[in-house]
Amino acid sequence: MRKPKIVILGAGYGGLLTTVRLQKLIGVNEADIVLVNKNDYHYETTWLHEASAGTLHHDKVRYDISAVIDRSKVNFIQDTVVEINKDEKKVILEKGEVEYDYLVIALGGEPETFGIKGLKEFAFGITNVNSSRQLREHIEYQFATYNMEEVKDDNRLSIVVGGAGFTGIEFLGELTNRIPELCHEYDVDQNKVKITCVEAAPTVLPGFDPELVNYAVSQLERKGVEFLIGTAIKEATSEGILVAKGDQEPWEIKAGTVVWAAGVRGNAIIEKSGFEAMRGRVKVQPDLRIPGFDDVFVIGDSSLIINEEINRPYPPTAQIAMQQGEVVARNIASLIRNKQQLETFKFDNKGTVCSLGEDDAIGVVFGKKITGSKAAFMKKVVDNRALYMIGGASLVLKKGKLNMF
Ligand code: FAD
Ligand code: NAD
Repeated sequence: MRKPKIVILGAGYGGLLTTVRLQKLIGVNEADIVLVNKNDYHYETTWLHEASAGTLHHDKVRYDISAVIDRSKVNFIQDTVVEINKDEKKVILEKGEVEYDYLVIALGGEPETFGIKGLKEFAFGITNVNSSRQLREHIEYQFATYNMEEVKDDNRLSIVVGGAGFTGIEFLGELTNRIPELCHEYDVDQNKVKITCVEAAPTVLPGFDPELVNYAVSQLERKGVEFLIGTAIKEATSEGILVAKGDQEPWEIKAGTVVWAAGVRGNAIIEKSGFEAMRGRVKVQPDLRIPGFDDVFVIGDSSLIINEEINRPYPPTAQIAMQQGEVVARNIASLIRNKQQLETFKFDNKGTVCSLGEDDAIGVVFGKKITGSKAAFMKKVVDNRALYMIGGASLVLKKGKLNMF
């Protein structure tokens, strides 16, 4: 009898966790497992703010997929997904195609630009290893060029961060630690550097604990960040950005670097393949399958699950993607063993820690508020835990944040 073929798209938190769990759960005679990913490495998306600011080398945030998969059980294809043909049950890749009996879509998210003019051309994103490397190098280029100019352009040293959500705040934490080093390396007067964070909502980190938000804002302001709250980015240009408060006339902030960290949407492949979605995210059934598609699961940033307590979607996080990966692996194992009763996914929120740089953070963990070095320690525990869940203790020893104190 032909073995069923399980195809997993994306080797991020959700996809890679699904793969390593499936390779344990399923025997070689039970099914073929195929993992498809653009790169031959996995990157820790949750550490990209560090690579983007230059406080951590980009090689530290990635590891080879071959280090965690069992090649005797998993066929890894390094290729880019172009489209999913759900009627013919096959995935179109740039260099070929692959058929499936069961499909797990775990392709992550993409920056949400809300159609704002100029963002795609002029703003940098914190999205993957390449975008982080480009952002870090661009900031360094601005510092290096500044001193070469006869007439100095102070705007080169103006950095604008759009969005004061967790990504924007974590990047600012790293950036403010990196600036004194950059000024030293490139002989730049630190007083010339200007960092502005523009946030459309009436507060930084909308929805997060106000006491912790105040702590974060005062720490970052102390390190030189100016916050423009209740102010939206309307356009990005080669000179900087246009912003506006409510219906007021927009005004310009000149900047040599604009970072767009104002939210994510699902992977474009979802809509391109004709699946019904909200901002690129599929509202999945409790068993994580797409309604009407009994053989297709979606997890991570491209999936949408409603938090019944507040009737709003859960924010897309690595925490939820990995928990979904655990459930999908068990559900697929059930399906190939002809058990029709599938497990229901229930998010177990262990808390949130937002880094403010290497040595500072804020967080709510198991319902308790924490700040400062205690929270920074907790953040490293969370970072190491993600490595442990996918690659065990050996991966933590190889790639983990072991300078905990
Ligand atoms: P990802 O981990 O993004 O992986 C998607 C994978 O799919 C990647 O390997 C990518 O290369 C691959 N891929 C994409 N498109 C294609 C294609 N067309 N073909 C082939 N392969 C493709 N969440 C937390 O829980 N805690 C945190 O502390 C935290 N910190 C964060 C910090 C930053 C700076 C950012 C940006 C996000 C952070 N998040 C955090 C959110 C978290 O990173 C995401 O929710 C999580 O990465 C989603 O996991 P995923 O498996 O859906 O996708
Ligand atoms: P987000 O959606 O959480 O925050 C984006 C922010 O940008 C919002 O505050 C929004 O009001 C603002 N914004 C939107 N349009 C704007 C505009 N035109 N001008 C100015 N501001 C604008 O997005 P994110 O911070 O990228 O986070 C994405 C996901 O990743 C979230 O689910 C988040 O929880 C998760 N994440 C978690 C952590 C952590 O747990 N430490 C860290 C980073 C990201």
